[in-house]
Amino acid sequence: MNDAAYINLENVPDGSTPGSTISLAQVNTENTSCLSTDSCLSTEALTNSFNIVNQRFFQGGITGAIIWQVPKGMVSINKGSPCYSLNGSTEELTFEQATLAIKQGQADKALALLTPFADKGHPDSELLVCHILKRQHGEWQGYAKAYNDHFITEMMAPAACYYPDTQTIAIHPHLHRRGAPMFVLRYLIYHECCHQIIDSSESEPHTPLFMEYEEKAPFREKALSWLSKEGFPTL
Ligand SMILES: [Zn+2]
Repeated sequence: MNDAAYINLENVPDGSTPGSTISLAQVNTENTSCLSTDSCLSTEALTNSFNIVNQRFFQGGITGAIIWQVPKGMVSINKGSPCYSLNGSTEELTFEQATLAIKQGQADKALALLTPFADKGHPDSELLVCHILKRQHGEWQGYAKAYNDHFITEMMAPAACYYPDTQTIAIHPHLHRRGAPMFVLRYLIYHECCHQIIDSSESEPHTPLFMEYEEKAPFREKALSWLSKEGFPTL
C-alpha cells in the first residue's frame, strides 16, 4: 500500500467517467497494484480503495456501490467571527447587573456595564447594547453588524456522503481533480462505511456511537487537515 499515492485524473479511461457506477461484485479485490500508478484511475481506483477499506476494517461486511458524484446533501458551516464568552463569575455578575438595570429602566448604567463586553465580541451584550443605542438614537449599526457577523453560515457540499436507500457512497469529483492522496480517499470511505453499520438520523448523523467507530479511521487527522485546506467542510 502506498498511502501517499495520488489519484491522477488525467487519462481517465473511457467508460469510467466520474458519476458512473460500478458494481463492487465485478471488481477483483486482490488487485490493488494499480492504486499507486497512473494507469488505473477513476472508478476502478475508487472501487479498489473501497474493497481494501471494506476488507481491512469491516471484514468485507459493507455492501453497495461507490461512485464519483457531487454529494446531494449540503451542510451548513459557520464561518462567523469568534464569540467572546464571559470570563468567570465577576463578568457574569456584571452582565446580570446590566440586565437588571435594563429592567429597572436604567439604560445608561446598563450601557456602561455592557459596552466593554460588546466591544470584545460577546453576542448577548452586542444585542443589548444595540437595542439601548437604537432607543437613544445612538450609533447602533456597528453592534448590529458585529452580532450578525458571528452567525454567518455557508452551505457547502461535503467531500463524501452515504445514501442508505441505494447503499451508495458518493465521493466528490473535486477530490479527483485535486489529486487527493489515497489516505484522504480511504478515510472518507471508512467514514461512509461507518454510516452503513451505525444507524443515525439526518438531524444527528454523527452520534457518539458513530464517532466511537469513526475516530478509529486510518490517517484521520491527516485526512481531515487535507480536506480542510481544500475548503471541504469537516466534522
Ligand atoms: Zn458522516
